[in-house]
Amino acid sequence: MIKVLIAEDNGVNRELLRELLEARGYAVLEACDGQQALHMIEQTQPDILLLDIGMPVLDGFAVVRKIRENPRLATLPVLAITAYAMQGDQEKIMKSGFNGYLSKPVNARSLAEELERLLRKRDDRSAPPNQSNQSQADGKARAADSGK
Ligand code: MN
Repeated sequence: MIKVLIAEDNGVNRELLRELLEARGYAVLEACDGQQALHMIEQTQPDILLLDIGMPVLDGFAVVRKIRENPRLATLPVLAITAYAMQGDQEKIMKSGFNGYLSKPVNARSLAEELERLLRKRDDRSAPPNQSNQSQADGKARAADSGK
């Protein structure tokens, strides 16, 4: 099951996002501020982070900076959830290490599309060369050995 961590200080918004995500079959985790979000990423290893920009303790910009600076977390897909829908803010968000953004109120369809886009991107990046090809090669080697 794909795990999505919601980091958002507003309880009503968290609940709405949880309902949209669970309706799509995602497993949902929640954090109420930026510091808790960082802690939970380390503890629960979500597949995607939905990150509110305006939050107490650490805001979304500070959280995404810390994620990108940490080699263990740097590849985590992060989607900004923002009340600031002005053009300049969107550019700032995309230059700050986010992989995409959604404006509040979050639209169910945009949310689903962005999540699918980021998961496809992640899978394209991690799937091809390594494990699957390697285990196929191992299988062939074993088959050849047993044939002798
Ligand atoms: Mn907020």
